[in-house]
Amino acid sequence: MADKWIYAFGAGKTEGNASMREQLGGKGANLAEMVSLEIPVPPGFTLTTGCCVDYLGSNEFPAGVWEGVLGQMERLEKAMGAKFGGDENPLLVSVRSGARDSMPGMMDTVLNLGLNDVTVAALERKSGNRRFAFDSYRRFINMFGNVVLEMEHSDFEPLIEAMKNNRGVSSDVELSADDLAELTKQYDALVKEKTGSAFPQDPVEQLRLAIEAVFKSWNNERAVAYRRLYSIPRTWGTAVNVQCMVYGNMGEDCVTGVAFSRDPSTGEKALYGEILFNAQGEDVVAGIRTPEPISVLKERMPECFARFEEISARLDVHYNDMQDMEFTIQNGRLFMLQTRNGKRTARAAVRIAVELVAEGRIDRETAVTRVDADSLDQLLHPAIDMDGGVDVIATGLAASPGAAVGKVVFTAAEAVAQVKAAEAAAEAAAEAEDDEAAAEARDDGAVILVRLETSPEDIMGMNVAQGILTARGGLTSHAAVVARQMGKCCVAGCSALNVQAGEKTIETNGHLIKEGDWISLNGNSGDVILGQANLKQPEVAGDFSTLMEWADDIRTLGVRANADTVADSEAALKYGCEGIGLCRTEHMFFEEDRIGHVRAMILAETEAGRREALSHLLPFQRGDFIGLFEVMGERPVTIRLLDPPLHEFLPKTLHDMEQVASLLGVSVEGVRHATEIHKEQNPMLGHRGCRLVVTYPEICEMQARAITEAACEMKKRGVSAFPEIMVPLTAGEAEWEFNRNIVAETAKKVMAEQGVEIRYLVGTMIEIPRACLRAGQIAETAEFFSFGTNDLTQMTYGLSRDDAGQFLPEYLEKNLILRDPFVAVDREGVGEMVEIGIERGRSVRPNIEVGICGEHGGEPTSVEFCHLVKMDYVSCAPPRGPVARLAAAQATIAHGAYKTAEIH
Ligand code: ADP
Ligand code: MG
Ligand code: MG
Repeated sequence: MADKWIYAFGAGKTEGNASMREQLGGKGANLAEMVSLEIPVPPGFTLTTGCCVDYLGSNEFPAGVWEGVLGQMERLEKAMGAKFGGDENPLLVSVRSGARDSMPGMMDTVLNLGLNDVTVAALERKSGNRRFAFDSYRRFINMFGNVVLEMEHSDFEPLIEAMKNNRGVSSDVELSADDLAELTKQYDALVKEKTGSAFPQDPVEQLRLAIEAVFKSWNNERAVAYRRLYSIPRTWGTAVNVQCMVYGNMGEDCVTGVAFSRDPSTGEKALYGEILFNAQGEDVVAGIRTPEPISVLKERMPECFARFEEISARLDVHYNDMQDMEFTIQNGRLFMLQTRNGKRTARAAVRIAVELVAEGRIDRETAVTRVDADSLDQLLHPAIDMDGGVDVIATGLAASPGAAVGKVVFTAAEAVAQVKAAEAAAEAAAEAEDDEAAAEARDDGAVILVRLETSPEDIMGMNVAQGILTARGGLTSHAAVVARQMGKCCVAGCSALNVQAGEKTIETNGHLIKEGDWISLNGNSGDVILGQANLKQPEVAGDFSTLMEWADDIRTLGVRANADTVADSEAALKYGCEGIGLCRTEHMFFEEDRIGHVRAMILAETEAGRREALSHLLPFQRGDFIGLFEVMGERPVTIRLLDPPLHEFLPKTLHDMEQVASLLGVSVEGVRHATEIHKEQNPMLGHRGCRLVVTYPEICEMQARAITEAACEMKKRGVSAFPEIMVPLTAGEAEWEFNRNIVAETAKKVMAEQGVEIRYLVGTMIEIPRACLRAGQIAETAEFFSFGTNDLTQMTYGLSRDDAGQFLPEYLEKNLILRDPFVAVDREGVGEMVEIGIERGRSVRPNIEVGICGEHGGEPTSVEFCHLVKMDYVSCAPPRGPVARLAAAQATIAHGAYKTAEIH
């Protein structure tokens, strides 16, 4: 049988339904469905997406299609008692595009097709409404010119503007019939001038051209760009709907409107919408006039409103989801023109999903799939209230969501100093019961750290700041990564900022901002705002935690957090994480009272010198770990031993050098010399991670001791803390064994000293391709693997994350990669490395615990990947916890549950 290219809907013959969106597009499928539900819809027919694809291949309609179209037009003429191109009662139609997924604003619609100089007069006579006839005609010429004749909407705009000015009116409804008739003449002339030929008068030709134009628009620049952005295949094509017109522009008892069956912003179960009287098509969304809320309809046309309300509720039930609807009222009669599942905020999505379960309409699994995991971010941070007339002075990358309001500081040290001073002042004021002074002091403690770009030593400053603003760096820059990890607002790569850290000023777009000036950051949009913007607190309503509980019941993948501090750990629990998957110990070394000893350790020339310095660090480290264990109780806490290149800890300023010199009892010159020696060409591939331990075993010894002593201390308090001690940057089994033995022997020694046994595991990061290949050998003794997919991506790709921002966007633009591999795990390459590692590891040690740590662990498609390769857990920044939990549940629903061997 030949392909069926045309499907009728309405007027007694409906061939499609909602399940046919692939062939009919979303719009066509739902129009047919509404007809079957006996909802009033103007009749019409749909040319299939397949017809579009075929047409684009050969540049002509498939055999029989044009005859089919003409046959359908006859059907519509009979149903309406009107004639297409007729001079008594002319039939007019709309030609509407409709892809499988809605592509907002991509392919345009032509209304009132069939009008010409003859039929417009007939329309006037038949309706007795000259104004309506010419309003329809001028709209038609404009839309046809735009969609079919490749003219710009802005070509027509000046003419109607001039007409309004001439008549001294501000809105198109105030133009008279004669004004509009005059305007159509001007439009006609413009078409001739721009295209070289007169506006086509033959309705049949109009129809053919319009259908062809909609088909062709599938390949226009905007559509291609949109498809690329949302990974929509070119091969889908768009359907075309031809539908009898109904008129919202015949007078004051006519309306065009859009509405949602539930509030798309809050999710509240209440009709929400906007209407315009005496208007047509998309005037409501196009901002031509200010639309009125749908409640006005209730006052002015209560029967119509009741009818609409009933249909809205029925569609909401029928589709079991919130509907986004378009409708027109012609002389008091309601017609539905479109329905689809509506787009919504995360807040609304959560509420609607949970309420649909309560209404008994969907089950919990379905509810869990209804919320976009990534969008939960919106719910987890306070946001800037952009409604209050804020003054945006520059816009950078929305690197970490949330909001920040604070005074500008230019260095991490200044941030720390200012916050400390403010805290002290606030305390003093509180003691003196001076509320005003206390409030003022607290204000002084709100700072925003502004940097050209951040580096690891800024960490303390970032930690105390309200937010971080950088002029350079992308979404995966240090500032962005650390800020997300901290759940702190960050705007990165704001290149319009001229940051003069020396002079302590920022110049941007004609504004000069000095240290101490107030600014606000919108981490959701990337906006930098002058002054103190108002904040909206996140409402993590009961529905949110209900949905998360359902997700937890469904998922099989564990979720842990990356947490270095007590505050991070508390946040991890708040966000439902089940342990710590990555504690970066180096972050503990930057505090003022420790960094000197760290530097002394690095620069000491003898083992004894190093041991002396390390002996000062031990109690700090032990205290750090006790702090984490106190919060995490018996949950696993994965602690990574010192990882970064020593390079990052070297003294930089004279003050740093003097401090180290005095600790080591050597000259500043000596320190300077030692510092020089430790500099590296390529620190990321240099002396770092477990390689440090090969040179300085005592570092590992100290850390292992601090961890096990802390766990022993907890055990004595009756808490079975559970450290998982993790060796970073392992490349193969020999080096791994060397590290592991130090940890295991130290732990054994400590337990003997303390007279207690503790639970602990020793394992390794897998972040070098070689380690994936040697995973079988490493797993002989490793009790867990944690894939560090940041470094693994860098090394598998041979791509530096910090430099990729310079050129990776071009790869995306030119379609050479689909997604930034630092944002979502590259399944084909890096993913296969991970699979090899897991397979080889588990073949030797079936119950080896496997997880992932780092940024990818909180990104939904990467979480899905981790589920597919049967990891035990993902670890992510604490505020990403709910995102990972939901994504893990969605992966379970999509791919089924699994259980890995119990290890604990
Ligand atoms: P989009 O996909 O951009 O929303 P539509 O095809 O839905 O485009 O058309 C836009 C608007 O045009 C509709 O919301 C409706 O108001 C109006 N419209 C489309 N077809 C008709 C029709 N047959 N009668 C009256 N208005 C129509
Ligand atoms: Mg549109
Ligand atoms: Mg529409």
